[in-house]
Order: sequence, then structure tokens, then C-alpha cells
Amino acid sequence: MATTERDYYELLGLSRSATDTEIKRAFRALARELHPDVSEAPDAEQRFRAVAEAYEVLSDPDRRATYDRFGHAGLRRGGFQPTFADFGTLADVFAAFFGDEFLRGGATTRQRSTRGGDVQALVEIDLEDAFSGVSVTVPVDVAVACERCGASGSEPGTGRRTCSTCAGTGMLRRVSRNVFGEFVHQSTCPECGGPGQMLEAPCTECGGEGRVVQRRQLEVEVPAGIHDGQRIRIRGEGHSGFQGGDRGDAFVLVRVRSDPRFVRDGDDLHTAVHLTMTDAALGTTARVPALGGDLDLKVSPGTQPGVVRVVRGQGMPALHGSRRGDLYVRMDVAVPTHVTDEQRRLLEEFRQHDGPETYASDDDEGFFRRLRSALR
Ligand SMILES: [Zn+2]
Ligand SMILES: [Zn+2]
Repeated sequence: MATTERDYYELLGLSRSATDTEIKRAFRALARELHPDVSEAPDAEQRFRAVAEAYEVLSDPDRRATYDRFGHAGLRRGGFQPTFADFGTLADVFAAFFGDEFLRGGATTRQRSTRGGDVQALVEIDLEDAFSGVSVTVPVDVAVACERCGASGSEPGTGRRTCSTCAGTGMLRRVSRNVFGEFVHQSTCPECGGPGQMLEAPCTECGGEGRVVQRRQLEVEVPAGIHDGQRIRIRGEGHSGFQGGDRGDAFVLVRVRSDPRFVRDGDDLHTAVHLTMTDAALGTTARVPALGGDLDLKVSPGTQPGVVRVVRGQGMPALHGSRRGDLYVRMDVAVPTHVTDEQRRLLEEFRQHDGPETYASDDDEGFFRRLRSALR
């Protein structure tokens, strides 16, 4: 997760007193320049990631204030991680900001309605939350319809004009002649991108895009039993579409933090209890960690180290359905390491009285009998 140490203002080519609008404008300009469909520069991806990170910080008033006062170190202390560092490709980063349609039109008008792009977000929860289910609030940056221009992209009070390059046809025709005859080549007009019309004046708020990027707090219901690495799809919470097109979806990647008390295996949980030598020999009631409340487990006399007891139905809930996994409890038995003189005397006395029968168990007999019959 490479975090650039370059100054965020410098990356966006701004002074430290830049306004929100200037920040937005600078970011958009760089995004256009570095877009994978446009830029030939081999380091475009790296540069855009750095620029996106700078924008993520400077467009958020709280983060910007932290950065202004304490710099990169302050953001790190505050736990800031660029959202986009985890995203696989640069196209994903772009889609996260602008949807798939970004840059296809620029300051032109779109006539087709298109669905908005999907947004990606990430949330980390504890195992206990995965056990019970939890509702979380996840910040996402989504493109929404620009209010100033009503998503038209036109500065209020202005209209559209016919594209002079294609004379409103949206197409360019080129005729070539060779020995085989006359050929007509037709291609989309590069000036207007197809609609044949241009905005007289692009909206000053959205730059003609018809949409602006807005931070939203997404309420996500994480269901009980969710596994680490699963994605939750929330329909209609992605980027706004164009010209009345549907909004895209939001995909929330759920990471489940590991819990030091448990190892999860599917819907089952594994844990351990620590017994003293005497409790294992004489039997006791042990407190066993369990999600949903610790359990009292009866430990029978003569419990051997490493024995695993299965407590049915005390694991994780299954994601779909009412079944629950099981809890596997391993018995760890501790042997005394620091004994007093009195304890030593008692153990010596015990040793004088024990013998093979003290350690015999029904299982052992069965085991040796089975072994003998196998060898016969
Ligand atoms: Zn606008
Ligand atoms: Zn044109």
C-alpha cells in the first residue's frame, strides 16, 4: 500500500488556500489527462493513484484540516488509508469516482440514457459482529446529478448549439478513391462525441458533466454469518446514470477481523480452555469462551490434554438458514512449574501411591486390544 509522501497541494497543482471548487476542478482536469483511455504515459496509473489520494484527503474538510496541521504523519496516526489503494486496476479507480461513462462526452450533450457505474467500498467488522449481524455506516463517494444544471451539464440560462465540426450529424465522413473505386469512411465526430450538439456554456459546478461527486454515508446491513472477503451488493446506491439512466450499484467488501480467542473454520469455531493438572485429574466446571456468551462446560475427571470436546450449535450462524456451526473446545492441561515445599511433599506422597492403574483408562484398554488384534 504505497502512500505517496508528495505534498497533496503540489500534486494537484494548487496553493494551500485553494477553495473546494478549485480542488474539484484541478482533480477533474488531471483525471481527464491521466485517464487510461487517453494517457499514453507509462506512469499514468501511479500518478492518478497519487492524485486520487490527494483529492480524497483535500475534498474532506476534516482530513484536510488534519493534513494542513500535521501532514502525512497526522493522517497516518488518524488511521487514514486511501480507499483506492485496494482497488485492482486504474479503471476501477476511475469507475469508483465517476462511473464507467467518465470522459466519453466531456462538455457535450448525451442523448442516450446510460446506467451509472458501480461503486466499491470496504468495511471491517469484528468476529462478534459477524456472529450477530451488524449495521454499519460506510462512506462512499458517488457521482450524483448536479443540482445547478439539473444534470443537463448546461450553465443555467444557456442552451446548446449545433456542433460546427460535424454540422450536427455527429459523424464525420471521409471519401477516398483508389483503383477499386470510391470508399466512404464514417467515424464519430471527435468534437461533440456523437450527439451533434455542444453546450453553449458548460455548468460551472459540474464542468458540463451533469454530475458531481458527493460523499454519502451508506447504511449497510451486514447479515449474521458473513464470511471474510464476501461482498454485499446494494442496488441503486452507485453512481447516478446519465439522462435518466438507472443508478449503478454499491459493492461493499466485508473484512472480518480475526478474534484471538477463536479460529473460524467455515461455520465452526475452535477454541481452547486451560485446565490445571488437578482440575483435569479431579474434574471441574470450566468457563469456555463462546460468541453469544461464555459457557460452563463440565470437565469429567481424568480429562486428557489435547482432547477436543464438541459443543453442538455454538459456532457461527450459517449465512442462509437457521443452522449454527459447532464449537470445538480443546483441553490444554498445565503442569505445575513453581511448587512450594508443602506442594512438593504432597506430590511426592502422591507419587509413592500411584501406579499404572492410576493412569489406565477404558479407552487405553480398547486401544491396546485393537492394536493386538491388528497385529495378530
Ligand atoms: Zn452542473
Ligand atoms: Zn460534432
